[in-house]
Amino acid sequence: MAKQEFQTEVSQLLQLIIHSLYSHPEIFLRELISNSSDALDKLRHLTLVDEAYKSLPFEPRIDLELDEDKKTLTIADTGIGMSEEDLIANLGTIARSGTKNFLAQLTTDAKKDSNLIGQFGVGFYSAFMVADSVEVISRKAGEEQAWKWTSDGKTGFEIEKAERDVAGTTILLHLNEEGAQYANGWRLQEIVKKYSNHIAFPIFLTHDKSEWNEEEKKSEKKSTTEQVNAASALWRRSKSELKDEDYKELYKSISGDWEDPLFWFHTKAEGSLDYTTLFFIPAKAPIDLYQADYKVGVKLYVKRVFIMDDAKELLPSYLRFVRGIIDSEDLPLNVSREILQQNRVLTSIRTASVKKILSELKNIAANEPAKYLEFIGQFNRPLKEGIHGDYANREALLDLVRFKSTKVEGLTSLADAKSRMKTEQKSLYYITGGAGTGNAESMLRSSPLLEIYKKKDIEVLILDDEFDELIFAGVDKYGDLDFKAVSKTATSEDLKDEAEPDQAEALKPLLDKLKATLGDRVKDVRVSVRLADSPSCIVSDEEEPSLQMQQMMRAMGQTNMPASKPTLEINPDHAIVKKLLARPEDAVAEDAAWLLLDQALLMEGVPLKDPASFVQRLNRMMALSI
Ligand code: ADP
Repeated sequence: MAKQEFQTEVSQLLQLIIHSLYSHPEIFLRELISNSSDALDKLRHLTLVDEAYKSLPFEPRIDLELDEDKKTLTIADTGIGMSEEDLIANLGTIARSGTKNFLAQLTTDAKKDSNLIGQFGVGFYSAFMVADSVEVISRKAGEEQAWKWTSDGKTGFEIEKAERDVAGTTILLHLNEEGAQYANGWRLQEIVKKYSNHIAFPIFLTHDKSEWNEEEKKSEKKSTTEQVNAASALWRRSKSELKDEDYKELYKSISGDWEDPLFWFHTKAEGSLDYTTLFFIPAKAPIDLYQADYKVGVKLYVKRVFIMDDAKELLPSYLRFVRGIIDSEDLPLNVSREILQQNRVLTSIRTASVKKILSELKNIAANEPAKYLEFIGQFNRPLKEGIHGDYANREALLDLVRFKSTKVEGLTSLADAKSRMKTEQKSLYYITGGAGTGNAESMLRSSPLLEIYKKKDIEVLILDDEFDELIFAGVDKYGDLDFKAVSKTATSEDLKDEAEPDQAEALKPLLDKLKATLGDRVKDVRVSVRLADSPSCIVSDEEEPSLQMQQMMRAMGQTNMPASKPTLEINPDHAIVKKLLARPEDAVAEDAAWLLLDQALLMEGVPLKDPASFVQRLNRMMALSI
């Protein structure tokens, strides 16, 4: 039996693995089980496609056997196995170009190096974190001779002939001090459930289990063998094999929800990247939906091996209500969080997943409108966040969100609002505000700003959600249509014909008087074309946040907001305005000026700075008229 030396790179890699992964030695089991699963996959494939293998027996299983006294653990599979040359090439040299690449990038900075390792597989060598000697007994499928490879993981390995009943590989670990903690059946079960529960093949654990002996009145150890994984990577099966019940069960097991999901999207991608995604939409919004430290609902798997369930980079945060699984064939098993953030594979999966989720939602909206409304009832708001944050998918998201409207009961889509527009209409309109008033919707519906739209029979969308203004201030188009707030100073094209320029001339003395009275509380006072029944309203500049928005941002702690002033508009046809025009110098006119401003502010849900003065003025006016 000749001793062979490791390729220098192998020794280097071994040292590095042991040092960089010392804080998670348990992953050795995940890596070895994953290798066994790959070996089983390979043999299964051959028995399906290759004549020479078709007649070979194939009973796929992975067996863990623990001997607590001897402190040994074996991991055995009935997979493809390795010949003598395979053992030398796979376990004694580093043939994979990825790993060579990795070693070429190594620096002398230990910290940087341990970060680097996350980009590559750790694999078999992680066994040396927990064992001071490893034996690999393997027989290649289709061959009679088995071989034994032995190493202490330091300098080299030895190879000799061995015996094995069936094809496959057995890895025998002589656990070291660090590994002693794994000489425990419960611990092993726990690790298998955590990382390898969905490996497609059954994993059995044989260990000594304490059992109570009733006759002898004492507990005694008995060797037992039991299956420890669920062996059900449901998402890897084809859709046609799966029943609704299967999906619902899986959803409940991964989400902890006891209600059925609303719907699910199952996708298998093959091509430049191979991966499977299975996403679920819960029936109810998760309770932490609006918390910054929300719990991530999508788990990352690599080749059916569980990797992590707290990676916020798997989906954009506005889709944080989505539950499910991303299972990639192309990522390394020990991919780290730092690496996920800039990983090309993950970026492509994420981009495609978002597109998929949004397009499936669109289908549901079209084909199952009632169900879609259930979804909107829970998740309209996160979708709106996406409009703000995900520019690339803005069009799709604009089509998915739903709005209240002056024209329909319930909710409408922008597409439907567009289809109701009059042919000559140039823009889609919306009104925002009322945040924090507790009755934003009814406040907006009775806003003076809507009067002209009612008169002209133009639909206005009611955006009464707290953050609507913040979000939609950044959206000025829906397709080729302008998307406009009715509270902005610039008069929209659709209202242009209402302007009566000569009236401004006639009203000038009154406008001047109002400006002089209100001073720097207003930016300007002008004649309105939007009012029908109310005497006045306030509007803000195109570029400026509205008063309500300023209020909200201050409430959120933004104290350095420039305080912009509203523009007061008055209705030239209103009786109050006409009467005021007749007596602009009157003392009553001063009270009237303030009342015109204050009532317009109140109608928009802006609290008055000086309610006492407002009430005094109102009372003086009442005294005059009663
Ligand atoms: P990786 O699995 O990332 O390729 P490893 O270092 O874990 O890297 O394994 C190296 C190679 O050894 C594998 O690619 C495979 O060819 C072979 N191998 C490892 N474990 C087994 C096994 N249980 N059965 C058959 N081949 C194996």
